[in-house]
Amino acid sequence: MKKNDAEFDVNRRKLLKSGATVAVIGAVAATGLLKSSPARAQSKASKAVAMYQSTPHGKDQCDNCIHFIPGKTPKSQGSCKIVEGDISPNGWCVMYARKA
Ligand code: SF4
Repeated sequence: MKKNDAEFDVNRRKLLKSGATVAVIGAVAATGLLKSSPARAQSKASKAVAMYQSTPHGKDQCDNCIHFIPGKTPKSQGSCKIVEGDISPNGWCVMYARKA
C-alpha cells in the first residue's frame, strides 16, 4: 500500500467514525434524552445508546478518549463526561474521540 493510500484509509476511517458519532448523537436527541432545559442538558447517554463495550476497539479505549474521567488508579473504573455509569479504562463506545 502506498503512503497516500494509507493516509486515505486513515482519513476514511476517521470520517466514518465521526459519522457514526453524529448518528448516535442524533439518535439520542431524537429519543428526547438531550432536552434543551438546563437541568436536562447535563444528561448522559445510556451505555446501550452509546453501544458501550467493556473491551477496547483495537487501540481505541476509554483511557485515551477525551471524554474519560479516570478512577482512583489507572486500572480502576472511571466515568465518562457523556456516557452514564461506571466506565472501564479498557472500554469503548461509538462516541470515542482520541486524545490529541
Ligand atoms: S465517550 Fe465512550 S469511549 Fe470515550 S470515555 Fe466515554 S464511554 Fe469511553
